[in-house]
Amino acid sequence: MDPEYDVVIVGGGAAGLSAALYSVRAMLKTVVLERIACGGQILLTGDIENYPGFPKGVQGPDLAQLYEEQARRFGAQIKLDEVESLDVAGPVKRVKGAEGEYTARAVIIATGGEHNKLGVPGEEEYAGRGVSYCATCDGNFFRDMDVVVVGGGDSALEEGLYLTRMVSSVTVVHRRDQLRASRILQQRALEDPKVRFQWNTVVKQIHGNGSVEGLSLEDVRTGETSQMKTGGIFIYIGFHPNTAFLKGLLAMDNGGHVVADLRMATSVPGVFACGDVRQFSDRQLGSAVGDGIVAALSAYRYLTGEHS
Ligand code: NAP
Repeated sequence: MDPEYDVVIVGGGAAGLSAALYSVRAMLKTVVLERIACGGQILLTGDIENYPGFPKGVQGPDLAQLYEEQARRFGAQIKLDEVESLDVAGPVKRVKGAEGEYTARAVIIATGGEHNKLGVPGEEEYAGRGVSYCATCDGNFFRDMDVVVVGGGDSALEEGLYLTRMVSSVTVVHRRDQLRASRILQQRALEDPKVRFQWNTVVKQIHGNGSVEGLSLEDVRTGETSQMKTGGIFIYIGFHPNTAFLKGLLAMDNGGHVVADLRMATSVPGVFACGDVRQFSDRQLGSAVGDGIVAALSAYRYLTGEHS
């Protein structure tokens, strides 16, 4: 049986759309399967300041749209479908989505990942009613309020700093007394008069009455508990790869990232992985784009038997 496509790309974030651009320009019939909307993580990002070529920064959603437009311009098909399972053992790969089945000779996995949850009482109940994982999307609902950001990484500080444009104050609640974030973001946050830090502290419960009204906190050194009033909590405590549907099919590390070599080749011939989903990804926009390009070039070599 002849497969319908040369390449199926699972995931339409920066890595997947970059792979699509290079794949269609190599004259490979290519479809991108995206479950919600193209763009991935950058859809949730306001100003991107560290992507080369944009000295004044660029808005994540604007860039996502440009990636999509460019891939479509050269013939990439983009379909909204959530992939549920794969059959990749043979030379013809089958990708099963909720809406249909796609066959191809090569598959590129670019499914990225999602923000972790705290897993405390109130988090699920008040999601969208004071609990948020996206300052860029929801910040405006918290105008002139005192809000909390949980986490000490780049996301927590970057989004916390973004929030200072519209809220009265941002309290960063972090479980240690040292930040994981890059030095430049640390410096900006520490110098910002609207940002304060509550060190060595974890959130135990989110309270409210229809929407968030406050938090129960615990000092991890003393075990002492306290209450904090707030109308909003933004949670940025890391990230996990979207690979549940790949379990048992491809080699993965303990964190569920797909193991891939420098050519983005996975443990299964004809299957490539790129972007945040792969082991040792730096989880940067620029590196996701680079990964996607390498994955597409590798798929091309695999399909044509060319070696470099
Ligand atoms: P991250 O770097 O993994 O940081 C997660 C933070 O959450 C850490 O400070 C961690 O504390 C804390 N944390 C984890 N689990 C927790 C829990 N259960 N309760 C309380 N706190 C918890 O995640 P990220 O900030 O989402 O960043 C992910 C990746 O994207 C990183 O590689 C980052 O560099 C990159 N990124 C880059 C940019 C940029 O370049 N501008 C922007 C955003 C993200 P500990 O420090 O104690 O572990």
